Amino acid sequence: VMDHEVGLFCRELPKVELHAHLNGSVSYQTIEKLIRRKPHLNIEHSMTAIGKGQRRTLEECFQVFKVIHQLVDTEEDILMVATDVIREFAEDGVKYLELRSTPREEKNTGLTKKRYVETIIKAIQQCKNEGVDIDVRFLVAIDRRNGPEAAMETVKLAEEFLLSSDGLVVGLDLSGDPKVGHGKDLLPALQRGRNSGLKLSLHLSEVPSQLEESDLLLNLPPDRIGHGTFLHPEMGGSQSLVDKVLKNNIPLELCLTSNVKGQTVPSYSKHHFKYWYQLGHPSVICTDDKGVFCTDLSHEYQLVASTFGLSREALWNLSQQAIDCIFAPETVKQQLKWRWTDLKHHIFTVTKPEANYVSQTVV
Ligand SMILES: [Zn+2]
Repeated sequence: VMDHEVGLFCRELPKVELHAHLNGSVSYQTIEKLIRRKPHLNIEHSMTAIGKGQRRTLEECFQVFKVIHQLVDTEEDILMVATDVIREFAEDGVKYLELRSTPREEKNTGLTKKRYVETIIKAIQQCKNEGVDIDVRFLVAIDRRNGPEAAMETVKLAEEFLLSSDGLVVGLDLSGDPKVGHGKDLLPALQRGRNSGLKLSLHLSEVPSQLEESDLLLNLPPDRIGHGTFLHPEMGGSQSLVDKVLKNNIPLELCLTSNVKGQTVPSYSKHHFKYWYQLGHPSVICTDDKGVFCTDLSHEYQLVASTFGLSREALWNLSQQAIDCIFAPETVKQQLKWRWTDLKHHIFTVTKPEANYVSQTVV
């Protein structure tokens, strides 16, 4: 009963999603549609998702993305995938979403990197015109596997869209297999992006023993950190890395299911959410890849609540504090805060835990 009530509360809770890779967020239903479009690929759905209780290594997770990339290789696919993903986040109560994706070119279908980003922007605008209740922005992703030249090219592309997308493109993401390449080679591209006004969200210390790279990247400093699993001393990081994060007040994007299923964190109770939350440091609950890991943001909030014993009030504060970590301008933050204030009384009333209420009065 308790779990059900917290679950209901988390669904009703207005939420902010800041760490969502477009291709990893594709749902079961959308994958089915894509498979039907491309029967010649002989792809089975079991190759694209990691179900309840299943775990895969980080390497295996990257294999899953390869399969999804095969399924999404035309403008038409990207448009469908992006509009579906946006609608699904909206249905889950997400009011503000930052999507991220690496622009890809596909020689076979004539897709270019520029068209790739344009198509995602088109999807965002289409959802807006249809009245889908969600504010969506986009981060252009740099895949570290592709090296420094590709990174610079991506930054230049993002700069163009920063000026032409009417505020929809707000920043850069650094992601891809953390064991490939070194962050220091990407510093010039990231520095350039930063100087042009692009916000930076960097996957950092996602795997152990990257102290030197994390230190270099933290010196930029980034505007947000993805995962940061191995930053603190208990996980083989260092106090000086933690101090840099704290000093610059850099919010962390934390994705519980992704880390446990991807086996970088041994169990939910050992997740580094606890470490940073206890420090009072801005920690934003996110999904990473809701499709691949079979989750959604409501479920992630519920997991945090059940694992670390957070009250409804604490969950509310967690979702509200995420507003301060968004990359859209101050006016958007203010609007979202009003929205949260408007919704608060209603949500606490409709999800009132009757069972708890009765037991409390008995006591
Ligand atoms: Zn990620």
